[in-house]
Amino acid sequence: MKILETKNLKKSFPVKSGFFSRVKGFVKSVQDVSFDIAPGETLGLVGESGCGKTTVARLVLRLHELDSGNIFFEGQEVGNLRGQDLKPFRKKTQMVFQDPYASLNPRMRVSSIIAEPMDIHEPVSSRERQERVESLLEQVGLDKSFANRYPHEFSGGQRQRIGIARAISLNPKLIVADEPVSALDVSVSAQIVKLFQKLQEEKGISYLFISHDLKVVRHVSHRVAVMYLGKIVEIAPKENWAKPLHPYSKALIAAIPIPDPTRKVTRVVLPGEIPSPMNPPSGCSFHPRCPFAEKRCSEEEPELKEWAPKQWAACHLIGRIGPMSL
Ligand code: SF4
Repeated sequence: MKILETKNLKKSFPVKSGFFSRVKGFVKSVQDVSFDIAPGETLGLVGESGCGKTTVARLVLRLHELDSGNIFFEGQEVGNLRGQDLKPFRKKTQMVFQDPYASLNPRMRVSSIIAEPMDIHEPVSSRERQERVESLLEQVGLDKSFANRYPHEFSGGQRQRIGIARAISLNPKLIVADEPVSALDVSVSAQIVKLFQKLQEEKGISYLFISHDLKVVRHVSHRVAVMYLGKIVEIAPKENWAKPLHPYSKALIAAIPIPDPTRKVTRVVLPGEIPSPMNPPSGCSFHPRCPFAEKRCSEEEPELKEWAPKQWAACHLIGRIGPMSL
């Protein structure tokens, strides 16, 4: 059974303006997004800023209401739950945030930050609480004596470890990590990625790992999904990412720097900006920037189809386009 299954998620946000805050349109942030995550699996979600990744994260954790679609957690529909009915789901799912400086309350001691989910969901005696906090600090590579300190006494990497200790405090089945390493230096970011992997091996946690950096996502994930303008355009096991199918995925891969000056690389520069999600293009939403676009692409929306084992992509021309060259 899958830990998480989403079907046709949709979410739009109203754009208001003027003295009476009249709604002048809707930002179509997430359009028809479906995916699943198996127990102990990491699904990476990658795409440019503004493509809807964070909205997907917040929908999955029920921090935003769905416009339509379904979310199944361990086989149970949770997309329609409200209030107290959501409590068991909240206990089994947690989030790690992008900004380790803003995500920890500066007025709370580390022990209170880490124990907060416990205090809400399963209060224990103060002695047990202290023992669990110390054990969690050690699990994330921090000294247990840090429990009495405040967040401002730590570096960015240490703060992110505290955020991870809080996230694993109730032994969740699923963690949604939204750009968890993008605010960190490269060496610190590598240590945090290793910590995520270690915790997954020890506890069997599933991750939805969101980043704009395909290199990090490919390293940490078992499968990777690429989003463009609110839709998933390709989803494939990480081994298949040497041969992406969708032109947008090809462009993302070609943009990854290779630390070898002797290797020849084909640079791919996509023309234009991402179109406005208030008024997405007709047909394939990538067509104004796609070097392979033809008439059909602006008229007909391509379906997400399985073209190779477990490799799904949404493009009319798959099979007809080879390596990307411009
Ligand atoms: Fe490009 Fe057409 Fe494929 Fe869209 S459907 S990615 S526009 S070739």
